Order: sequence, then structure tokens, then C-alpha cells
Amino acid sequence: MIVVSRRSLFAATATLALAAATRPLAVAAETRLPVVASFSILADLIARVGGERVTISTLVGPNGDAHVFQPKPSDAKTLAAAKLVFVNGLGFEGWMDRLVAASGTRAAVVVASKGVVPQKAEDEGEAHGAEAKAGHDHDHGAFDPHAWQSIDNVKLYVANIRDALIVADPEGREVYTANAAAFTSELAGLDAEVRAKIAAVPAARRRVITSHDAFGYFATTYGIEFVAPQGLSTDAEPSAKAVAALIRQIRREHITAVFIENMTDGRLVKRIAKETGVVLGGELYSDSLSPKGGPASTYVDMVRNNVKLLTAAMADS
Ligand SMILES: [Zn+2]
Repeated sequence: MIVVSRRSLFAATATLALAAATRPLAVAAETRLPVVASFSILADLIARVGGERVTISTLVGPNGDAHVFQPKPSDAKTLAAAKLVFVNGLGFEGWMDRLVAASGTRAAVVVASKGVVPQKAEDEGEAHGAEAKAGHDHDHGAFDPHAWQSIDNVKLYVANIRDALIVADPEGREVYTANAAAFTSELAGLDAEVRAKIAAVPAARRRVITSHDAFGYFATTYGIEFVAPQGLSTDAEPSAKAVAALIRQIRREHITAVFIENMTDGRLVKRIAKETGVVLGGELYSDSLSPKGGPASTYVDMVRNNVKLLTAAMADS
């Protein structure tokens, strides 16, 4: 008869638990789930949920523009090898259906924005027209696709990513669930941080201009007014008349800062600043992350970077 004392049983259990905890969690590269992300922001969200269990190929990388992306033959091969293809949806990736068909992939296509309450596209209708499209070739359709600019929406993205990964890789359920929960609580903290920072700016000062109408969800969620620029044509170099119209608008509408991503002509930017006294707020990241080492190489850093630039510019103009 073998007598096992309580103490040694406890010790044995503790040893087993320790062994389980210290077991290497790394997943061999060849057994990872191959997934495709349509653009860099989505890839970062998938990486946070999938961790080491997934290998992510990103079609539109850092500083890329998904609106005007033209898939290469190698992108079709990437899709063919994938088990899941993640897209934003809401008309953001107009090229994806054709790419999926051309690739012959059997991967499930997962719409990460599923469940988001879509906002109408800002550049719809005659109010803005061609001016609102200056410098950024949008083809939105009825809805604004930039839903990730609201952190609440990104919580839905994270849940959709988690659910899709669990279906494709049931063994990873615990990992995906834990990663999604940790990231979601980090996002809740980020949301509170953003609200506090913007609340510190008087409401009347929260009026800025961007050339890129990508901040509709951000505006609605956080109470900053992004005014569509008037007078800018789709020409590479705006005319004197267009610049004058923009300057009048900045004065008339009490704009506190200008963020014009595609206005690369430094002389023009300086002239507008000099004539209006408006703050030039720097570069906001809307549709893609920065490369690694840049100011917005993750979703969380992108939000922090944008809020830092926005609040600084609105505060001291
Ligand atoms: Zn865009």
C-alpha cells in the first residue's frame, strides 16, 4: 500500500502546474495559421489577437494607400496559401473580390468591421464634391470605411478577429480568447485616455481641417470637428485662387489647425500659416501605420500620435 501524504501530493501538483506554466508557448513556424490582412492597421490588430499562432501577410503595408492599391500576381499567391483573409469591409478594399476570385483561394474572407454601425461617407453628395477628394483618391461608396478611427469599433474588430481565428484554429481558443481580452482592456484604457485629453481642449477650439476625409468616426466619437477644405482642387499644385479660398475658410470658420497630408509643397503650407496664423499640425495617420520605428507603427501608437498632434495644435493656436 502506498501512502501519499497531503504535503507530497500538494508538492506534486505544484510541480505539475509549474511545468505547465513554463512549457514553451512558441509555435513552430510551419504550424502557424497563415492569414492575410488587407492593410497594415488590420494586421496589427490580428497580431495582437493571434500572437505566435498566426503568420500574417499584409497586402497594403505601412504608409500604403488601400484606396488605390493594385494587387500584384504575388498577392494572389499569398491569398491562395492563406487559411483566412481579413478585410475591413465597408467598401474600403474595392479590389479584394477580384483578387480573391483570381487567386482561387479557399480561405474564408472575414469582414473585421462586422457589427459596426456605419456612418455615411463625408464626401458623398454635392456639398463637397471634388474638393473633398483633394489629394486622396477615395472611392467609398455610401459609407465611410474608416471605422477603426473609433476605438469602440476596434473592440468589435478584435472580437470578430478572435472568433474567426477560433473557427480556423480551435486549438488556439484559449490563447485567442486571452489575447483578445487583454487587448480589449488596453483599448478601453486608451479610449479613456483619448477622451480625457480631448476634454481638456475647449469645445470651440476643436475645429481642424484635413485634406483626407478619414476621421468621420473619430469626429463623432470624440467631439472634434473635421472641416472639409474648400477650394482645393485635385491638381497637384493648388492655384492661387484655391489657396485664397482655403485661407478665407480658415478665418471664417475659426479653424484652429490644419492637417493636410498630401499638401507636400512646403512653401504653400508656410504661406497659409503666415497669412492665417493657423497652426500646421503635422501628419495624421489615417489609413496605414508608419514603418517600424516611426511614430505610429501600431494601432495604439497611431491613436496616441494623432491625439497628441491634434490636442497640441488645437491648444496653442
Ligand atoms: Zn482613406
